[in-house]
Amino acid sequence: MTDTHIEQASNFIRQKIDADTAAAKFKRAGLPSVITRFPPEPNGYLHIGHAKSICLNFGMARDYGGRCHLRFDDTNPEKESVEYVNSIKDTVQWLGFDWHSNGVEHLHYASDYFEQLYQFAERLIQAGHAYIDSQDGDTIRFQRGQLNSPGMNSPFRDRPVDESLDIFHRMRAGEFAEGTHVLRAKIDMASSFMAMRDPVIYRIRYAHHHRTGDAWCIYPLYDFTHCISDAIEQVTHSLCTLEFENNRPLYNWVLARLVEVGALAQPLPEQTEFARLNLTYAITSKRKLLKLVEENKVDGWDDPRMMTLVGIRRRGFTPESIRLFCERIGVSKADSWIDMSTLEQAVRDDLDEKAPRAVAVLKPLKLIIDNYPDGQTEPCKAPVHPHHPEMGERHFVFSKELWIEHDDFMVEPMKGFFRLFVGNKVRLRHGFVIECTSYDSDEHGNVTAVHANYYADSKSGTEGSNNYKVKGNIHWLSNESAVSAEIRVYDRLFSDAHPDAGDKDFLDALNADSKHISQGYVESGIANVAAETHFQFERLGYFVTDRVDSKSGALVFNRIVGLKDVWQKK
Ligand code: ATP
Ligand code: MG
Repeated sequence: MTDTHIEQASNFIRQKIDADTAAAKFKRAGLPSVITRFPPEPNGYLHIGHAKSICLNFGMARDYGGRCHLRFDDTNPEKESVEYVNSIKDTVQWLGFDWHSNGVEHLHYASDYFEQLYQFAERLIQAGHAYIDSQDGDTIRFQRGQLNSPGMNSPFRDRPVDESLDIFHRMRAGEFAEGTHVLRAKIDMASSFMAMRDPVIYRIRYAHHHRTGDAWCIYPLYDFTHCISDAIEQVTHSLCTLEFENNRPLYNWVLARLVEVGALAQPLPEQTEFARLNLTYAITSKRKLLKLVEENKVDGWDDPRMMTLVGIRRRGFTPESIRLFCERIGVSKADSWIDMSTLEQAVRDDLDEKAPRAVAVLKPLKLIIDNYPDGQTEPCKAPVHPHHPEMGERHFVFSKELWIEHDDFMVEPMKGFFRLFVGNKVRLRHGFVIECTSYDSDEHGNVTAVHANYYADSKSGTEGSNNYKVKGNIHWLSNESAVSAEIRVYDRLFSDAHPDAGDKDFLDALNADSKHISQGYVESGIANVAAETHFQFERLGYFVTDRVDSKSGALVFNRIVGLKDVWQKK
């Protein structure tokens, strides 16, 4: 897949950018004609939905020779932290994007603009476009009215400019308690856009901010901060999700007033909305993800079942697979659901080409080759990748005692089972054809070992192998050389495609069977592999060494996805 797929998919945004470029709308000396930004609030870890926004914003900037800023929208001090800031930076980089452009770093924080925002607010007050309201929050909310009925003016709406200015200064100085005064834009209490009904733009909060400390006790609200931050950074295309469509008139109103008072200059940034990503079998809300963590339903933010980007990374998804997924889903104007299988297929398609193959046995069962001499071994080999001979060969040995997958043996074979059962022949992949002769079991009837004889002239890659036609083909490891490993098999965290739809409690939709840990074996050639290395384990699926827990000599693997989609049938 190439970037041309982004072109096709996101064309309403591209069309706008193309039209703007043709009209020279954002032509400014020394500046690119496309500047975008990704503006997370550092109040949690990024999730798969954010990846869509990251790929879109950084992707557009890249494709149009512009730049994309990473801007932290950090105006709610109580919920934000440096931990989240660092994780977000790390994740954006991991996805393969960079906020540097021509050697200049474009990493910004709305909190860097607090002084400027304050001065802009003063200018609005002076021009009669904002006033201090001294009513409580409930009263203000009530007076806003409903969608189909106008709101009512605050008794403070016509407060003299000097009085509003004075109170605003004293709010900053810390003279008032929280909730006693707010600054509101003076727009239109009868507007059909609720956001235009004299929105609150500043409020008092005695909260410690992770960057500005205790310097401020008044904080600007999102609608005031966001458009001004875009303008200060000379953003051209402010791409955001559809829920902000009704805030667009306010975005434009604030900027237009600031141009009138000479605080800002044209051209102004323009907001364009796109549909957010909704993924089946997943939760994409920071608040709900936090609940999963706090209630110990998962093992932290980076639990491999979490649809946070740190979780997805730990699970083994590659940045390429996430970008491929975002290209495939495209960008549209209408909300829709994307099936989880689309994300899973993207990682298969990415790893199929590049992941080395290896053998792992998840649930080991001993196979004894009765007619093979004790203590002897036979070298065997297989390609590292079936379509890429340049990736080389894997070498391993055949011996009398082997490990096979428990599920590959059945005492009473069901119909269509072509693997091991007494009297049946199978091929041990890249090894010999064997015939099962008997099995051992314990007092509970559990199978403890399987016996077979091998055919010495049936080795894979030799002439003789062609004389054997068998239906079953199973993987195996020699217990002379197999290396033990912890293998974590993950599945989807929710068993309901829409875990938080309607008034459902998403905790009721948890898949009780989403994590299995087993002690298994892997082939010796990968015994010292580094953390975060991807493999296709033959017949089993795609796996990665866990980036936190896996060490050389104490390997831990996570299953990313199986080889095929099994959920479609469910
Ligand atoms: P949440 O609801 O999970 O808290 P948010 O929208 O509040 O998400 P922000 O940190 O404000 O999170 O989001 C940063 C950017 O990512 C915003 O521009 C937002 O529109 C975008 N974004 C968030 N969720 C999605 C999603 N599911 N699909 C696409 N873009 C998203
Ligand atoms: Mg938000």
